Amino acid sequence: MGRKKKKQMKPWCWYCNRDFDDEKILIQHQKAKHFKCHICHKKLYTGPGLAIHCMQVHKETIDGVPNAIPGRTDIELEIYGMEGIPEKDMEERRRLLEQKNQETQKKKQNQDDSDEYDEDDEPGPSFQLPACRTAAGHIHPPHDAAWNASWLWSTRDTTRKLLG
Ligand SMILES: [Zn+2]
Ligand SMILES: [Zn+2]
Repeated sequence: MGRKKKKQMKPWCWYCNRDFDDEKILIQHQKAKHFKCHICHKKLYTGPGLAIHCMQVHKETIDGVPNAIPGRTDIELEIYGMEGIPEKDMEERRRLLEQKNQETQKKKQNQDDSDEYDEDDEPGPSFQLPACRTAAGHIHPPHDAAWNASWLWSTRDTTRKLLG
């Protein structure tokens, strides 16, 4: 009785605003990204845990959670997965999600194309020559251009001969 109704929310990381499918993965992410000691790479469980570890083991103070977005670096907050997140931020997130839902619903009515492909295909260090693109076959074969050029030159020659 008197318990607050809690709507199931997709797990997300308070520190960097990333979505996760599973809270277990979120916790793994937080340990690896936000609660990892930058000196000995030990993974702690919470921000304060990391601060205490650094203080006791390395005699270093940590002034913010690593890899956190601005305003979310509070090392004192004991956040573990979805637990410990300040209520106001939970509310804000809920509002944001509702807004997003409405937007995606609108978008889905207009077009059913999803451009969710987010693979970062980083270009390698070696530069690719644009000439490789002709392999696609949409461009005229090169001998055409050469033929055109030679034709142009020969007509020019004849014109010159005729004029001279
Ligand atoms: Zn994160
Ligand atoms: Zn350490």
